[in-house]
Amino acid sequence: MRPAIKSRLTTEQFAEGIFRGDRIILGQAITLIESTRSDDQVLGASLLERIIAKTGKAIRIGITGVPGVGKSTFIEAFGKHLIKQGKKIAVLTIDPSSQLTKGSILGDKTRMEELSKDASAFIRPSASGSTLGGVAHKTREVMLLCEAAGYDVILVETVGVGQSEVSVKNMVDFFLLLMLAGAGDELQGIKKGIMEMADGIAITKADGDNIKHATEAMAEYQHAFHLFAANESGWTPRVVTSSARTGHGIDTVWEMINQYHDKTTASGFFATNRGRQNIAWFEEHFAQLLKDDLAKSLSLRTTHDTLTKSVGDHSLSSRQAALLYLEAYHKAIRESNGNETE
Ligand code: GDP
Repeated sequence: MRPAIKSRLTTEQFAEGIFRGDRIILGQAITLIESTRSDDQVLGASLLERIIAKTGKAIRIGITGVPGVGKSTFIEAFGKHLIKQGKKIAVLTIDPSSQLTKGSILGDKTRMEELSKDASAFIRPSASGSTLGGVAHKTREVMLLCEAAGYDVILVETVGVGQSEVSVKNMVDFFLLLMLAGAGDELQGIKKGIMEMADGIAITKADGDNIKHATEAMAEYQHAFHLFAANESGWTPRVVTSSARTGHGIDTVWEMINQYHDKTTASGFFATNRGRQNIAWFEEHFAQLLKDDLAKSLSLRTTHDTLTKSVGDHSLSSRQAALLYLEAYHKAIRESNGNETE
């Protein structure tokens, strides 16, 4: 078990430190939010309540692409460009591989070396967690803490291998897909579904001999976007070429995101989308709380294990098992209500 946070601050001390932009306190607050200890969770929840009014002002950008496409190099160049414009940026990562294999595709310490030394950048690797949903959940809360600490742009990075994109899409305003020219969609593991989620594509490494290929790929993907059904946001996703090495296109990506922001703010979609995301997170939080609550009851856990076994060896249908579990749950509630009134 992780040792308790040494100098335990109060909600107010955490909040004040965060509002001041104190990076050490922000780091401690993130550790608190990520903690599974129940006393930390109580304090973490009260901290989130305390800071919530100061959140929401950043632009939230999701960045995805297969390993090797150039994500960390791009984020380093893009981040430095934003800092030059006077922005403070936070980079958070969601790495599904670290949950599955304990290894991490994104966790390499040397990534974004220059950015990590910049006082205007805050970089935080993936939270640990047993499920991707759990990790995404924490990442979203970490994002809120960073917003309260005054970060103007939040970059949420994930590996484009299909599991974590939906989680990221559901917490950001703009979803940027990085792609390599000429590698073939299959090789890049890019499914049509991921392209449909993207608000923009940057074809990376558009430098040297690769410029021609990158420009051709740009035209192809732009054409593909026109074939998709119109997007509810009213925004037609754009494709650009970029090179972190030469700096080409880095400013264009930022301009594209600003155009998206202006257009969707004017149409009302920006706020509607955030509202929807909040509703989805409310549902997910509740489902998680319910699950945790069920797991607290020994009798329900036993029932759950028995039903799981029966479903696994085909002696009971999944549907019937779910109904029986619900009945057991109702019974447990009646019993606990009975105990309270006694
Ligand atoms: P990630 O796995 O997606 O984070 O990819 P990296 O950022 O680690 O980049 C993978 C490789 O591509 C590294 O060897 C980089 O030096 C190289 N690379 C990244 N960006 C560029 C670029 O803009 N141009 C060129 N030529 N190489 C790049």
